[in-house]
Amino acid sequence: MIILSGPSGAGKTTLIKLLLKECPYIEFSVSACNRVPRAYEVHGKDYYFISKDKFKELLDNNEFLEYEEVYEGNYYGTLHSEIKRIWENGKAAALDIDVAGGTRVKRKLGKDALAIFISPPSFEILKERLIKRSTETEESFKKRMSKAEAEMKSRNFFDVIIINDKLEDAKKKLVEVVEGFLSENRQPLNKGM
Ligand code: 5GP
Repeated sequence: MIILSGPSGAGKTTLIKLLLKECPYIEFSVSACNRVPRAYEVHGKDYYFISKDKFKELLDNNEFLEYEEVYEGNYYGTLHSEIKRIWENGKAAALDIDVAGGTRVKRKLGKDALAIFISPPSFEILKERLIKRSTETEESFKKRMSKAEAEMKSRNFFDVIIINDKLEDAKKKLVEVVEGFLSENRQPLNKGM
């Protein structure tokens, strides 16, 4: 399993997309969440957009490998069924999850997971990127900035830290560490099934 965590606006989603293009043997783990979809987002591709009640139902049925209330009232979680689907395809799963979720999955999976922290070069740049992205309301922007500050403090719990200053360099480093990890950890395709 490949875990990509880091503050909102650090560039995880862009980097995961580039990684997937480069490495066809990795598949994106689509999370479930109850936030409102952005205009460009597609159900089943970016997220499984579900109601809060549905999220709670899945939680009660133990359907999540991990979940977090990432922002107040907004729940996000990795479904066991999603990871099973990817592994049954004989691929490695790539998770784009928040820092708390990332550290939790790493603790559970140990050496079977590579935990990567994507860091912005500075807070100022993170702020600029979030403003440029203009997907957030003022309130949600403030929440993301204050959470980012706390998240940056957890970066040393990760196996690798990649500073996303120049996208091309960050991508190169990402592909390099992921390929290194996967070549050392190749599993027979039917493992655990
Ligand atoms: P956004 O609302 O910007 O898509 O995502 C907000 C944050 O939630 C991001 O840091 C993203 O990585 C994280 N996130 C997305 N899916 C999951 C998940 O399944 N579990 C956890 N813990 N965090 C997630």
